[in-house]
Formats: sequence, C-alpha cells, structure tokens
Amino acid sequence: MRRFAKSFTQQEAISDDAIASAVAVLQSGRLHRYNLAEGEAGETALLESEFAASLGVDYALACASGGYALQLALRACGLEAGDKVLCNAFTLSPVPGSIVAAGGEAVLVDILDDTTVDPDDLDRAARESGAGFFVLSHMRGHIGDMDAIVAVCESHGIVLIEDCAHTMGAAYDGRPSGTFGKAGCFSTQTYKHINSGEGGLLATADAEVMRRAVILSGSYMLFDRHLAAPAPESFAETRLMTPNMSGRMDNLRAAILRPQLAEMEHRKTRWNSLYRRMEQRLGDIAEVCLIDRPAREDFVGSSIQFRLPALGADTIARFVEGCEARGIPLKWYGKPLPEDYTSRYDSWGYLAGTRALPIADRVLATLCDLRLPLTFDQADCDDIVALMSAAMEEAVQPPEATPDKALGSR
Ligand SMILES: *Cc1c(COP(=O)(O)O)cnc(C)c1O
Repeated sequence: MRRFAKSFTQQEAISDDAIASAVAVLQSGRLHRYNLAEGEAGETALLESEFAASLGVDYALACASGGYALQLALRACGLEAGDKVLCNAFTLSPVPGSIVAAGGEAVLVDILDDTTVDPDDLDRAARESGAGFFVLSHMRGHIGDMDAIVAVCESHGIVLIEDCAHTMGAAYDGRPSGTFGKAGCFSTQTYKHINSGEGGLLATADAEVMRRAVILSGSYMLFDRHLAAPAPESFAETRLMTPNMSGRMDNLRAAILRPQLAEMEHRKTRWNSLYRRMEQRLGDIAEVCLIDRPAREDFVGSSIQFRLPALGADTIARFVEGCEARGIPLKWYGKPLPEDYTSRYDSWGYLAGTRALPIADRVLATLCDLRLPLTFDQADCDDIVALMSAAMEEAVQPPEATPDKALGSR
C-alpha cells in the first residue's frame, strides 16, 4: 500500500537569523532574562514589547509555557482557592490543568457543531455555577461568536481569559485574538505558531493584572527591566503583596522567537494556503463534513478539522486505521481511549463531576483532526487527500459485502 512519506509533526528548521541570535545569547552567557549588560534591554523584554505591539495592547509578559500563562492570568485576575472557572468542554488538557493548578474548580461548557463554545450553554453554566471566570479556548483555531460570548460574560460579571494557543496571528472582526477579555494567553511550544520548544506569553491592557503577573512570574524586584509593563513606581504595593511563582522565560528562547514573530503574517499566508487546498480537496469526499469558516474570523490554518456525521464508530475506526496504514495519523476524538494529546473531557477524571454536554458528546464522536505543518506543500495536500479517499472507500465497504467474501461464504 502506498504511504504518505512526510511527518505530520515535523516543523520547519529554526531560521539562520534566529540561530544567530541564539548563538549571540549563548556567547554572552547572559541567559537569565534579568542578567543584562549596561544599557542592554534583553531579548525577553524586547520579545514582550514586540508581542504587545503586534496585538496593539500595552502589556505583555513572556513565561515558561502556555499552561503557565493561563495559571498566571487566573491568579492575576483574582482567582481564589475553590473559585469556579468555566471552560470549553472541547479543549486541551493544560486548560483544566491550569485551572486546578491555580486552585480553581473547572466547570465545562458545551460546544456547537462547529466546535466553538455554545453561548446559550455558557449562560446556563454561568447561572448554575456562579463562576466568576471563563477560560475560553479558541480550540484548533476556531473562534466562536465573540459578540455573544462577550455579552454573556458581561451580563454575569465574568472575567474572560482567552486561551489563544491556536490563534496567535488570528483576528475576529479585525481585532486580534487575545484582546477580547481581561487577558490573552499564548503558547510557543513546538506545535503552535512560533516555536521555542516550550514557552508562553500573556497579554493584557489592565495595568494591575500585568503588575501581578510580572511579580507572580518571578520578577523579584527587577520589574523595572520590563519594557511592556506598567511604570516601576506603580509596583509599590503589588510587589509586597504578590508571591513569586517562578516561571520566567529566558533570553535564549526569546532570541529564537523574535524573528519568528516578525514572520507571523507570512506564516499565516502559507498556512492558509495549505488549509484552503485541504479544504477544497476534502470537500470531494462525500462523507466529510467540513467546518465553516465565517468571514468575521481571520484564522491561521495550522490544522484542519472535519466531522463524519453519517458514519458509525466502526466505520470511522476502519477509516482511521486505513489512514494510519497510509502514513496519515488522523486524530479522531471519538476513539474510545484517548491517545497522545488529550482533548476528551472524560479523560480528566480529577474534575469534580461534569455537567451534561450532549452536543460535545455527539460532535466529538465523529470529529477528526489533521495537523498541517509548514513543511508540507500543495502537492502534499493533494496526496494526503487522495490516500484518505482510498481509505474511505475501503472503510465504507462493509467487509461481508466484498465479492471475495461473498463467494467464500457460499
Ligand atoms: C498547547 C495548548 C495549551 C498550553 O500550551 P503549553 O505551552 O503546552 O502549556 C493550552 N491550550 C490549548 C488549546 C493548547 O493546545
């Protein structure tokens, strides 16, 4: 059987200019973000100010991971032990994990057929739970109805924190993703839109939230070395009232992220051309139900999702196996036991029970996902879908109806 030969988890090499910046940091020996030479701003502080500028907000903080940025955001926004925090039923495990790490209790909210959060269920969950926070994941880059979501949060006095792990570089109604709530959290982990292995960024327009986040992240009394934070004089009270929960970014990672951030627009164009090609080709497979991309959503197509609503679990399992055999690691969220990166809420057994989530149950049962690394090209997209098409033909053919079997049983 012909197999697709490239790897779906192979990222592009770090560019020569990013490598040169990294080497310069290594040669300086000043890897810690606050270890600066006379007159030096430092790669981490520069990354923060460039990232803040890219979103059009005043403040940004770089830190250890996307999940850590979420913890910081929750704490900096005033979460106290035992507080309820709403989050999408369909998200990645670091989201409920960060809520628990910050001392909160996650309350799941149902989704819609397009995998974005259901504003009506958000309203219900807010009323039932009395939660004061909502961590909204723009899961796999799909941005929900932000007008409705923001309106529900406002009507309940809920603090909105955006999880933008899949929407760095994306916008909605022309407004950058991550600027709709009190804070936006981003990841620079290898599989996201810019790659430093591990890393996170938090953006906010709120001065007190940023002061707390800076101290929480482990700034000691060196907060004056930040370029995208409130004035040092304004820390007088916060600095003595906020614990240090070390989780800083270092200059080495920041050095390789800055050139990548500068390239974000170009990456988005390249990602979306892969996405549109896949979308067009997948549309030819009758069983595939693609997810609409509303015009208001300016997304970054670093992965593609589709549903197989007319197929039963056995058929989907055969299709996934057929794809696997052809070198295509299709992720199926309906797989009985969660594997690799877990996004199924029933694998978060540490949560104190869950609400009824009928739409998530139905949608996830047939939802599939493919990564689209920038190491692929248009011809790869065509090849992948041709192989998937063959796998589908095989899968929908019930084994007992094939001519060979029919003959054999006679
Ligand atoms: C990757 C991811 C995160 C967290 O990122 P890490 O940097 O791995 O901690 C949060 N939310 C979603 C939806 C993600 O995919």
